[in-house]
Amino acid sequence: MKITVSVIKADVGGIGGHTRPSDALLDAVRDTVKDAGNLLIDHYIGYCGDDVHIVMTHTHGKDKNDIHKLAWDAFMAGTRVAKNEGLYGAGQDLLKDSFSGNVKGMGPGVAEMEFEERPNEAFTVFAADKTEPGAFNYPIYKMFVDALSNTGLIVNKSLAKGVNINIMDVEEGKIAELKLWEDKPTIEAALMYPGRYVVDTVTTKDGEPILAASTDRLHNIAGTYVGKDDPICVVRTQKNFPATEEVGSVFNNPHYVAGNTRGSHNMPLMPVKLNSAATINFCIPIVEALVFSMHDGKLTGPFDGFSTPDWDLVREVATKKALAMRSQGFIHPATLVPSELEYAEGYRARMDILKDKMRQIDEPTNSSQRKENYEDPD
Ligand code: 13P
Ligand code: MG
Ligand code: MG
Repeated sequence: MKITVSVIKADVGGIGGHTRPSDALLDAVRDTVKDAGNLLIDHYIGYCGDDVHIVMTHTHGKDKNDIHKLAWDAFMAGTRVAKNEGLYGAGQDLLKDSFSGNVKGMGPGVAEMEFEERPNEAFTVFAADKTEPGAFNYPIYKMFVDALSNTGLIVNKSLAKGVNINIMDVEEGKIAELKLWEDKPTIEAALMYPGRYVVDTVTTKDGEPILAASTDRLHNIAGTYVGKDDPICVVRTQKNFPATEEVGSVFNNPHYVAGNTRGSHNMPLMPVKLNSAATINFCIPIVEALVFSMHDGKLTGPFDGFSTPDWDLVREVATKKALAMRSQGFIHPATLVPSELEYAEGYRARMDILKDKMRQIDEPTNSSQRKENYEDPD
């Protein structure tokens, strides 16, 4: 049976800041989705930091108006509660006044896949907060390109052939289909700068979908930069795809990602338990693993992928790396480059004052003058 998994997420408000949604906000989202009649086969609703995710299974295919509208309506209901409760950032990610066919380009993040369900379909949803879609570049690279991280790339016949990786240029809104193994260095060059190039989808060489990620950047939608979009992705696992433990373990080395406080710093990505609030310890970026089984579109799970004791050590590593980065305060690379700052206006105001105070210094500028002034050592 062909099943579509649609994961749609949005931040529509947090308690006392960008922490977590309130219980009443979550109830409003749940009540809306529950009322969807037989549109869905199954669903799960949870949160990562201040972002609420709706995992839906159905038979209507990708980009389906009714499915997207249901998620939009649920987030609108959550926003109404958030406004009544005075939550911070109420309706933050709903950038348009009314729904128009597809939530893509309206603020919420979408990761969708349609596929022929396997008898024991397995997939994991990775939901992150306080970072951007490019935060997945490093773990996805480790999943599909780096055999030192994933032995399946050697011993699994399908993975050893290499996969197709579609990479989006989030500045230009363009997409390139790159193929392993021939395009390896080009894929690496793209993934090098997660602020610009991000993985959109991964398929087998036969076109079977393995991974879909949300790739919108809010500044493309809003015209001016309004912040990072906390990303989400779905990865199918087992059989011809990486094992569940191969996709989970790529998060065990908390790498530095852009985002966190004011969306303007670099900090390590910390794997956390399901439905964790964002920490008020300078908003260390977080990621959750929702591990599902599915049969006839019915979900079992999620099992909390980062809940076992080993992940406590990884959290400690992330905390230590976060404190190390924070120890250098506002000095880059603790802070992002100017074009990536969420509070660019405030920074520009400072720079305007600085530029005003700048005076040209008298210094030999052309090379012939430099030569005259330069004496060869004996
Ligand atoms: P969110 O993107 O999770 O809303 O966080 C924004 C922020 O600026 C936190 O300091
Ligand atoms: Mg927020
Ligand atoms: Mg968020």
